[in-house]
Amino acid sequence: KVIVFGSINIDLVATAPRLPVAGETLLGHDFFKAPGGKGANQAVAVARLGITSYIVGRVGTHSFGAELIDSLQASGVRTENVSIEATVSSGVAVITVDDAGENQIIVIPGANGFVDQEDVGRLSNLLPGAKALLLQFEVPMAAVVDAAKAAHHAGVKVILDPAPVQADVPDELYSLVDIITPNEVEARQLVGFPVEDKESAARAAEILLERGVKCAIIKLGARGVYCASGKECFFIPAFPVQAIDTTAAGDAFSGALAAAIALDLPLHECVTWGAAAGAIAATKSGAQPSLPDKYTFDLFLKE
Ligand code: ADP
Repeated sequence: KVIVFGSINIDLVATAPRLPVAGETLLGHDFFKAPGGKGANQAVAVARLGITSYIVGRVGTHSFGAELIDSLQASGVRTENVSIEATVSSGVAVITVDDAGENQIIVIPGANGFVDQEDVGRLSNLLPGAKALLLQFEVPMAAVVDAAKAAHHAGVKVILDPAPVQADVPDELYSLVDIITPNEVEARQLVGFPVEDKESAARAAEILLERGVKCAIIKLGARGVYCASGKECFFIPAFPVQAIDTTAAGDAFSGALAAAIALDLPLHECVTWGAAAGAIAATKSGAQPSLPDKYTFDLFLKE
């Protein structure tokens, strides 16, 4: 089993020919609403691939709370550790996607901002028998660090998606992390220089390893993925696909990576699973609707 400790949001998505600039009003194409939040997306990504998936987090009593829990359950995620925060909104993400598939996202934390020690306690009860814990930065940093500690001490692999990127990542977090999975923007923020190709990704990964992570996986979008652990380094080119909307490509990546780790697959294969799921997600609109099921995923890997 895989556990996700993180955010649960509703995504409000507008599509437009291009992204607006500051102060501009732009006529868009379309609007839709879909369940999202990096935590929930990653939990769904795991469940869709047939691996037992638990989420620990919070939703609000108003604005979409019950709807979000229902949709997680419909995707096969175990939600008995999702608590309902009275009188606040659930997390909301306002997303714009342009014709090239690029996006801009504003996240209102709502109930996610109340995730704390109590949730870490719920997580601790779930850790026995788990293979991996997926973490992101959409719930408070103190809770993320405590969740990482709990998993680390229980011998459960900690996989951190450092998104949305934070200016102050506590030093102690790195040594609790087994695998960190920044994209180009996050990698740049973490190491302080541009990361946009294999060479700069290799240098960034080296720095992250020195800080204490056991493995660094740098996601370079359509350019592929670079992975370095103490034992091996390799690059996996992106699967050639027609990208429509990269929302949740990173979450598909994290979920599939954790699913492969739950099956004890070798690292190279785990990263390939991540890259394949990310590529599939990039070909479809929205967050959770774009996450592949096992059938689609197996078919894609065979081709
Ligand atoms: P994030 O969604 O966190 O910003 P990326 O955009 O790098 O991360 O996407 C995550 C992964 O999804 C990539 O490492 C890659 O494997 C896959 N992916 C994303 N965009 C594309 C694309 N246009 N073509 C093929 N694969 C893609």
